[in-house]
Amino acid sequence: MHAFGLKNTFAALYIEEGIKGEWHMLDHAGQRSTDWLAKGGLRPTRQRVALARLLVGDGENRHVTAESLFAASSETSEGVSLATVYNTLRAFCDAGLMQEVVVDGSKSYFDTRMDDHPHFYWEDSAELTDARSDQLEITRLPDLPPGTEISKVDVVIRLRRRA
Ligand SMILES: [Zn+2]
Repeated sequence: MHAFGLKNTFAALYIEEGIKGEWHMLDHAGQRSTDWLAKGGLRPTRQRVALARLLVGDGENRHVTAESLFAASSETSEGVSLATVYNTLRAFCDAGLMQEVVVDGSKSYFDTRMDDHPHFYWEDSAELTDARSDQLEITRLPDLPPGTEISKVDVVIRLRRRA
């Protein structure tokens, strides 16, 4: 019993050391990732930092699905399970770091860009990219059912190649 407790303490210390060690070796991408997590009030766990690095490490905005982020993460030494990727993306959304864009009922896209903007959905490659918001004008929306207000208007322009 005692030995088990001791082992656990050791494991905890080891992890702590590992995280500290990582902090010392932070490069730009790592710094950007931990800053981003801090903005959402999220503790920089190893897995969160690994995923944040893939999402915002280069300073560019990104649209991902749980599956595409999982695939990218599998190519790194910090690979995490699909379930963890999914839960972490949800946590990033809850923390106000990402927004979910629903393109069709079956697939969610997650966007690191937080302002309101329209999207192009490329049907043949299942990719989501930003469209220019300064070229979008919504002049009129249908009357809302009584007792409701608009929570959000999503504009997704679906594209296919011309034959
Ligand atoms: Zn976007």
